Amino acid sequence: MHPELAKLIDLQSKDAAVAAAEQRLTNLSRETVGLDAALQRARDSLEGARRAAADGQRRRDELETKIETYRILQDRRRQRLEQVRNPKDASTLMTELDLTHSVMAKEENDWVRSAEMVLQLEVKVRDKERNLAVLEAAQAPERSEVARRRAVLEAERDEALRIREESAGHLGKALSGRYDRLRRTRSSDVVVPLVGGACGACHTAVPLNRRSQIKAGNVIDACEACGAILYPAEPAGSV
Ligand SMILES: [Zn+2]
Repeated sequence: MHPELAKLIDLQSKDAAVAAAEQRLTNLSRETVGLDAALQRARDSLEGARRAAADGQRRRDELETKIETYRILQDRRRQRLEQVRNPKDASTLMTELDLTHSVMAKEENDWVRSAEMVLQLEVKVRDKERNLAVLEAAQAPERSEVARRRAVLEAERDEALRIREESAGHLGKALSGRYDRLRRTRSSDVVVPLVGGACGACHTAVPLNRRSQIKAGNVIDACEACGAILYPAEPAGSV
């Protein structure tokens, strides 16, 4: 076998270890999907309650402003009523006072209902805040356990990467570049054995003379069909 081929096979096994370590990290992040969803629901629910309370407060405050405006208007009418001498003007003012009085009574009723509603909505907000806090506390042990395992897995992945770089360092630049390009474009292995005279990846037959060259270690050759780098894995005499 060509001496560089052994290094390529070694690099490929180190890459497989990196990929496995990354897969374990991906699997771990899936474990918190349920926790994340439950937390998100509680947050959304709190957010909705806060919006409803804010809307209620705005309605209540608007009513308050309206009632205050009426009150000022009524005060002015009462002052004018004390000053007018003309009975017709007095009668008009009296009518206006009565009309506004009944409108105000209705608005004040609305305000009372609105204020009660706000109190209820504020109770709901506090409930939701409590729910969220309880949920966060309930999730804390599991989350800290996941964080602990993540730190371990990240350290393993970093170590696998370090070992991979070390292995890649043994290869020439040209060959390591060729390997990296193939690795980016291929979903399966980059370096594959000859199996029964064919490419171990796509099973395309490799001509006998090239098989002999590969086996003799003279060349680093690739499958013509899929581009995989071939290495001899068959017992002597089978090429
Ligand atoms: Zn092939």
